[in-house]
Amino acid sequence: MGCATALSLADRGADVVVLERAVPGAEASSAAAGILGAQIELQHERGERASLFVRARDAWGPWARMLRERTGIDVGHRVSGVLRVAFDAHQKAAIEQDVAWQRDHGLRAELLDGRGARGVEPALAEGVVGAAHFPDDAQVDPTLVLRALSAVLARSPRVELRSGATVTGLLVERDRCAGVRLDDGEVRADATVLAAGSWSSLVPGLPAGLPVVRPVRGQMVLLDERPATVMSIVFGPGGYVVPRGDGRVLCGSTMEHAGFRREVTAAGVHAVLGAALGCVPSLGGAQLVGTWSNFRPHAEGDRPLVGASPLAGLFLAAGHHRNGILLAKVTGDDVAAAVLA
Ligand SMILES: Cc1cc2nc3c(=O)[nH]c(=O)nc-3n(C[C@H](O)[C@H](O)[C@H](O)COP(=O)(O)OP(=O)(O)OC[C@H]3O[C@@H](n4cnc5c(N)ncnc54)[C@H](O)[C@@H]3O)c2cc1C
Repeated sequence: MGCATALSLADRGADVVVLERAVPGAEASSAAAGILGAQIELQHERGERASLFVRARDAWGPWARMLRERTGIDVGHRVSGVLRVAFDAHQKAAIEQDVAWQRDHGLRAELLDGRGARGVEPALAEGVVGAAHFPDDAQVDPTLVLRALSAVLARSPRVELRSGATVTGLLVERDRCAGVRLDDGEVRADATVLAAGSWSSLVPGLPAGLPVVRPVRGQMVLLDERPATVMSIVFGPGGYVVPRGDGRVLCGSTMEHAGFRREVTAAGVHAVLGAALGCVPSLGGAQLVGTWSNFRPHAEGDRPLVGASPLAGLFLAAGHHRNGILLAKVTGDDVAAAVLA
């Protein structure tokens, strides 16, 4: 969120300092699966969010091209489509409802029986009795996105990118945010954007009454299958599988209220792999290459905090929970527009 907002601000002519205690993308943004799941996520986020999610997904193609042109880095944007699979009549009924709602709202969504689903993704389990297919949902590789964003920011004459800079509080003067305090000094600014992910509510000096942002831990498992067989993103009950197209397959993810504990646990890996192999049994033969966990920033009230805050001079870009990669470009633009209004 910080990098996307900084880029949008700089491209609109503002001078920006990015303050990051580690390196850009050190936390959730590089840990994510990178699903641009505008439609698959509508099972959690119906209503007015549908158009925002679709706008966010559709903004990614041009943004990925721009990042490649300016940095030479291909961020792995692929419209790989998403299948949400059902194993019984109850799950199938939920999928039918979802597809009907989406089609009524002008979105492309297809209802498939088990055979039809295996026609789209032959690696699916025999037990799959139906699926919703969202052919326009897509993916990026978040690690590459963060590499590209930091490269483009480092090259911008308007941006100063400071890694290893920990913000220790807001500077509040005459009821206005005048910048931030650091370990070793301060940075003054006309506008300050809070984009500290799951740590956003821990920054001293925030105005009272802001919804609290809390971490929701997600554990991930990376597999390597050779040759690559799975090509579609598959969501099953309790987990998902994201093939990068080259044999790497990300399996995710738990949703845990575990504070800032970074462990990858036996139960977490068991749950993630159980869900993944339930959908795509052939992944049982893939090599387990790595595991990690990180924290989705969940804002109280279930809505991201985007734009002006009750404190003059302070703007918010936090609390995007499961969909911060999907929403990065549009959030950056919306926050930049609010800052420069
Ligand atoms: C396992 C997992 C899977 C996910 N999968 C997806 C997905 O498929 N699709 C999707 O859209 N989203 C996904 N998400 C959600 C997405 O990753 C987040 O919503 C998004 O990355 C949040 O971005 P952010 O910039 O707010 O937070 P972060 O990426 O966590 O960045 C916050 C930054 O602030 C820095 N910071 C914190 N405090 C300070 C301070 N005091 N001073 C200086 N710097 C500070 C941190 O070092 C960090 O780099 C996933 C998340 C997880 C954990």
